[in-house]
Parts: sequence; C-alpha cells; structure tokens
Amino acid sequence: MQVIQSIKELEKFRSSFGKHEQLGLVPTMGALHAGHISLVEKARQNTDQAMVSIFVNPLQFNDSKDFDKYPKQTEQDLKLLEKAGCDIVFVPDAKEVYKEQPLVSFQFGYLEHLMEGYYRPGHFNGVAIVVSKLLNIIKPHKAYFGEKDLQQLRVIQYLVRDLSMDVEIIPVPTVRESDGLAMSSRNMRLTADQRQRAVVLHQSLMKAKALLGKMPHAGIEQLIKKDLSSEKLEYFSIVQKMSLEKCSNPLQDKEVALCIAAFIDEIRLIDNIIVSS
Ligand code: AMP
Repeated sequence: MQVIQSIKELEKFRSSFGKHEQLGLVPTMGALHAGHISLVEKARQNTDQAMVSIFVNPLQFNDSKDFDKYPKQTEQDLKLLEKAGCDIVFVPDAKEVYKEQPLVSFQFGYLEHLMEGYYRPGHFNGVAIVVSKLLNIIKPHKAYFGEKDLQQLRVIQYLVRDLSMDVEIIPVPTVRESDGLAMSSRNMRLTADQRQRAVVLHQSLMKAKALLGKMPHAGIEQLIKKDLSSEKLEYFSIVQKMSLEKCSNPLQDKEVALCIAAFIDEIRLIDNIIVSS
C-alpha cells in the first residue's frame, strides 16, 4: 500500500496511472471503522485500484470544539486499510490542502434550509470545497459515499451534476453495530452509558418505520419527538428519498427516508433509513 502526503507526489502517481485502468476514491476523515471499510471493499470490487483519502477538513466543522475533539488515529487507520487491501492512501495535512484560504463558496439552495443544512450552517460549503479539491487533484473514475450521511450524498450528487464533473458517485448502504447503532467515528467518544443510550436513534427510526402508512407523517414525527425528550433531538423528518423534501402525500412517495439527528450529551449523532412501499 502506497502512502502519499503531498499533492505533487499524488500528481506523479496519477500521471503514471494506466490509461485503461479505473481509479476508485473513498474520501474519509479517518478514525476508520467497518462502515468505511465497506466503501473500500466496494471500490476494490468495481475499480482497478482503490484510493482512500484521510483528511479532517476544518472547513466543514461549524463547531470548533467538535473539530478539536474529532478522533485522530492515523497509524491504526493505515493498518486497517492495508488489511482491507487498499492500494493507495492520501493523507495530506491542512497546509497542503489549504495553501490559501478559499475565496469561492458553495450554496445548495433548498438543501441549506433543511436538516443538516439548517442545523450546521456552512457545513456543506466546507464539504463541497474539500470534495471538489479531492476530485480535481485525484481525478478518480468513481467516488464512494455512504448513505449514512444521506444529505451529504445528495449534495455531492448535485455538485457533480451541476458542475459537469467527470466522476461517477456510488452510494453505499449504512453499516451498523449488532444493536442497530449506525457506525460512526463519533461513536468512539461515547462512554459505556452514552453508547447504550445512543441506540435510541435507530430504535426511533424502526418505530417510525412500523408506523408508516398507519398514521399521518406529522403524527409519527410528533410521537418520535415526544419519545426522545430525554435526548436533545435536533430533527426527525420523513422526507422524499431523492429530494429530501418533506413528503406531505405518502401515497405519492414510494421511497421515503426517515432522518434523525440528536445529541447524546455533547456528542451529535445522525442516522437515517430508506423505506420503499
Ligand atoms: P467520514 O469519515 O465520517 O467523513 O465518512 C467517510 C465516508 O464514509 C462518508 O461517505 C460516510 O458517509 C461513510 N460512512 C460513515 N459511516 C458509515 C457507515 N456506518 N456505513 C457506511 N458508510 C459510512
């Protein structure tokens, strides 16, 4: 496994890359778990070489404390990636990625006003800047993103569509712990007690799923909000799977996404499930 730290080295690697070979990219912020590895496995299955980038992007943190506390364990990550059969890892530092403070900014229309867009102002701008940079520097044929961050996945799909970027975005289903908790680097910060409480996100999604079609969406949302009164719920929304807009007419929306964000004390977790009727 080749480890690359500078853009110069990366460009050298890219220019020597076989003309008829396919390169798959998995962008991550490190602190890797089985969810990330499932993206690597998918990249290995349908491209010739799988590259993982590890970069904790300061620009996408709207809360500086969250950035400071974000878990970092590069040595362990590299071992995991080697074991997973990853071919190349790109691990730049912040000075390498942001030689200058970016002047450009992104705005994702209505997506800025709902769910993550509403609660994390500026977050998707930071995501779009770093992902654009990675796609431009690495020029992968395919890039892999988890459905765990469903709104981020949609933002990337619009970014690539609207700027006519020559890359295929491949969504990958969420990997969960045995009790249903969605795997996340932030789970590493949970104490044993918090870890037990965190499963409430998944339980709420399952409860809401069971109620779909039996009562109006607004009623289900109210019920879940009441259930979660002991945790700090930011949103629980039943939305159209693709647009992520609220769906008022369940009969018209064959595929919905149930999306949730809540704090377990100071640790913010998100999750979602997609339901087809
Ligand atoms: P992160 O390092 O959290 O920025 O995540 C890097 C990529 O891994 C993103 O595309 C995430 O959506 C994806 N990812 C994170 N957690 C999971 C999971 N539990 N299952 C599948 N993909 C995930």
